[in-house]
Amino acid sequence: MFRIGHGYDVHQFAENRNLILGGVNIPYQKGLLGHSDADVLVHAIMDSILGALALGDIGHLFPDNDENYKDADSIKLLKKVAEIMNEKNYRIGNIDATVIAQMPKLAPYIENMRKNIADACQCDISKISVKATTEEKLGFTGALLGISAHSVVLLERIN
Ligand code: ZN
Repeated sequence: MFRIGHGYDVHQFAENRNLILGGVNIPYQKGLLGHSDADVLVHAIMDSILGALALGDIGHLFPDNDENYKDADSIKLLKKVAEIMNEKNYRIGNIDATVIAQMPKLAPYIENMRKNIADACQCDISKISVKATTEEKLGFTGALLGISAHSVVLLERIN
């Protein structure tokens, strides 16, 4: 009836890259390094959904040596993962995700992130929680080396 999944991802900051989180382009002096758009939040969410279905991870589904996924829009990849989830007869019960970033302040962008994720998963925005926190200047996020994200998802079986 229900399946639970967890996802975790990290990307390091880099110059001359856009900062994309939850499909939102956030003004900041640096972006995240990656083969795709490096949307660490959406990557953690995809891994949590795939984990709930015991289908491996996004590296398996969208290999980073595949030119098709170079600078890929991760929200589009999330749509594909949601389609796979539907084919397996599951839908989102709810998602609770946390982005860990010392900078920039993410509060103004959270609602748009939730909307983008809900649209990609074809579910109501009330099922999508996105939180942002810092690690109090500790560790690699505190040292402004990168951003990490966690996601927990509950999937419900459709009928
Ligand atoms: Zn990633």
